[in-house]
Amino acid sequence: MFHHVKELQFNARVSKPDPRFARLLLEQFGGSNGELKAAMQYFVQAFGARQPYPDKYDLLMDIATEEFSHLEIVGATITMLLDGVNGELKDAVEQSDLTKLLQGPAAKEEYIHKAMTAPQFLVLTGGGPHLTNSQGVPWTGAYINANGDLTVDLRSDMAAESRAKIVYEYLMKFTDDPGVRDTLGFLMTREIAHFQMFQAALDTIQPNFPPGVLQGDPRFTHTYFNMSNGADARGPWNQGQGPWGQGEHWAYIDNPKAHVVQTKGEVEHKPEGTSHTPEEVQQK
Ligand code: MN
Ligand code: MN
Repeated sequence: MFHHVKELQFNARVSKPDPRFARLLLEQFGGSNGELKAAMQYFVQAFGARQPYPDKYDLLMDIATEEFSHLEIVGATITMLLDGVNGELKDAVEQSDLTKLLQGPAAKEEYIHKAMTAPQFLVLTGGGPHLTNSQGVPWTGAYINANGDLTVDLRSDMAAESRAKIVYEYLMKFTDDPGVRDTLGFLMTREIAHFQMFQAALDTIQPNFPPGVLQGDPRFTHTYFNMSNGADARGPWNQGQGPWGQGEHWAYIDNPKAHVVQTKGEVEHKPEGTSHTPEEVQQK
């Protein structure tokens, strides 16, 4: 069951209303890398993990629940940034710190302009967050990645945490409000912590690559196709031992066109760079 605690996980506060930044911050409320996406992704994945990995069910549910706490913080921050947008807009303008600082009709016009760049706050939600991204596109379950194989799901989660982290970092460039920056710094840091938790959880599952049960065909696992002409980049992704075990290496196909003809469309491609045989893989 879920049990709501009235305190926010982090003491979120803002110095002054800022409808423009409230709109940008919607990206982490109802956007594709936002807090609801994270919460729902781990929540949905947890059901598939419960039977085979009860310990990972606990992890996924704990992090999902923390993401709901983040969603609450983001929603509360958006609401504070919109303080004065609902109801008596003009009165709010008269009273806002920003107006006091700048004085005069230009400041008022500027404030109204900022509010109007996010009209959904004025005409749809009455000054609260809306379950959309910063462009007003509705949140969708299509943002959720859950594939029923925990090694696949944990890799999706590490990718999700990476994206959430970088979006917070980008957002922080667009606000000078010290309270908002503190809050975003906390949320960003928690995504770093979650990434490490998912990575450590993945490491406890061995072997964890490749995902699933079926093994890769050794004729094709170690092959790199050079699919362009001109200067070619080489590195551990296409030369030497790379990520492979002792005695294994990448096979670099410099001319894939000739290779495809020679191997009759890969059918006669012999394993190279690996000692694993098709029979051995079949056995596995
Ligand atoms: Mn989060
Ligand atoms: Mn997270």
